[in-house]
Amino acid sequence: MARSLVKILKQEMSEIETCPDCYMNAHQNPKSWFTERSAHPLIWARLKGFPFWPAKAVKWKDGNVDVRFFGRHDRSWVPIKECFLFSEQMPTPLKNRNKTLEACLQEVNSVCVCVCVCVCVCVCVPN
Ligand SMILES: [Zn+2]
Repeated sequence: MARSLVKILKQEMSEIETCPDCYMNAHQNPKSWFTERSAHPLIWARLKGFPFWPAKAVKWKDGNVDVRFFGRHDRSWVPIKECFLFSEQMPTPLKNRNKTLEACLQEVNSVCVCVCVCVCVCVCVPN
């Protein structure tokens, strides 16, 4: 019990360090925070054994990108070579685009409009 609590706290702390804004938004607007305006570029990211998936790039470190995937909003480190800036075409097209992916892309589209400006800024001026 104590150990799992420590684990949770560590996770929370690292989430706050990663992006205080997202952490706050996720808690204040659990339903809508993910598609709200944020400074994180949209990307296609691929985890080993999975297709490319739309995600937000939250931060960069040692050749890896800390991403949040659309859909389940889960977090993962993805090698930078498996990350591409988001465009309508997937880097590697899926033969069968499944419903899950379609739903995620709809979610992405609801972000795109307000994020595209931020993406340009992020790409031109990486921090
Ligand atoms: Zn953020």
